[in-house]
Amino acid sequence: MQTINRLDTLRSALEKLAAEGPVALVPTMGALHSGHLTLVRAARARAAHVVVSIFVNPRQFGAGEDLDAYPRQLAADAALLRAEGVAVLWAPDAATMYPSGYATNISVGGVSDGLCGAARPGHFDGVATVVCKLFNQVRPDIALFGEKDWQQLAVIRRMARDLDLTQPHVDAIIGAPIARAEDGLALSSRNAYLTPQERAQAPTLARAMQAAIAAIHGGAPVAGTLAELEQALLAGGFSAVDYAELRDADTLAPLAERGTGPARLLVAARLGRTRLIDNMAA
Ligand code: AMP
Repeated sequence: MQTINRLDTLRSALEKLAAEGPVALVPTMGALHSGHLTLVRAARARAAHVVVSIFVNPRQFGAGEDLDAYPRQLAADAALLRAEGVAVLWAPDAATMYPSGYATNISVGGVSDGLCGAARPGHFDGVATVVCKLFNQVRPDIALFGEKDWQQLAVIRRMARDLDLTQPHVDAIIGAPIARAEDGLALSSRNAYLTPQERAQAPTLARAMQAAIAAIHGGAPVAGTLAELEQALLAGGFSAVDYAELRDADTLAPLAERGTGPARLLVAARLGRTRLIDNMAA
């Protein structure tokens, strides 16, 4: 595995790899866990070569968020990726990604609104901008993203469709199911912030979501069920619920009632200083 942090070096490495077969990109912010490795394995199954990017993207963190505290462990991450047969670890620094004079922003309307877009203003502009740059830098045939960040996946697909991207084409943007701990907690680099007591409380999120979905399927009204879900989280030790919403799974349009199309329950809630997100088919 080559670890590369210069764009010209990346370009020449990729020229050789692309000549040998399809290239897959897995964008990450590092602090890798087995959820990330699920994406890497899915990428390996579909492409000749896998490129993983690690870049803690300042543009997707708001003022007062955890940019400085975000876990950084490049050497350990590189060892994990090497063992997974990754061809290239693309690890640019902020000055390489956003050189002096950098002035362009990508803003995806509609799907970026509400949910994490409301709780974290500017977050999805930062995500869309860096992912578009990563696509142009790596020019992958396919790219893999986790369903853990359901709204992010919708934003990236919308961008790829709207900007007529070809590397990757919107249909080659692949979502991978959420990897969970045995107790149901969705794996996240931010779980490292949890104290032992908070870690013990955290699975309440997935459990309360499953109970809400069962209630909705049983005919309970959506608004009341979501209010009960919020109460269950607060009673379970969470300090605040940023949102708990039922949405159309594809368009992310709000759903007042469960219709016939695919629906998704999406929740973000705060446990101590950690913000946890999760989503499930509903
Ligand atoms: P991050 O490093 O948190 O930006 O995540 C990088 C990629 O890994 C994103 O596409 C995430 O959606 C995905 N990811 C993170 N956690 C999980 C998980 N528990 N299961 C599946 N994919 C995940």
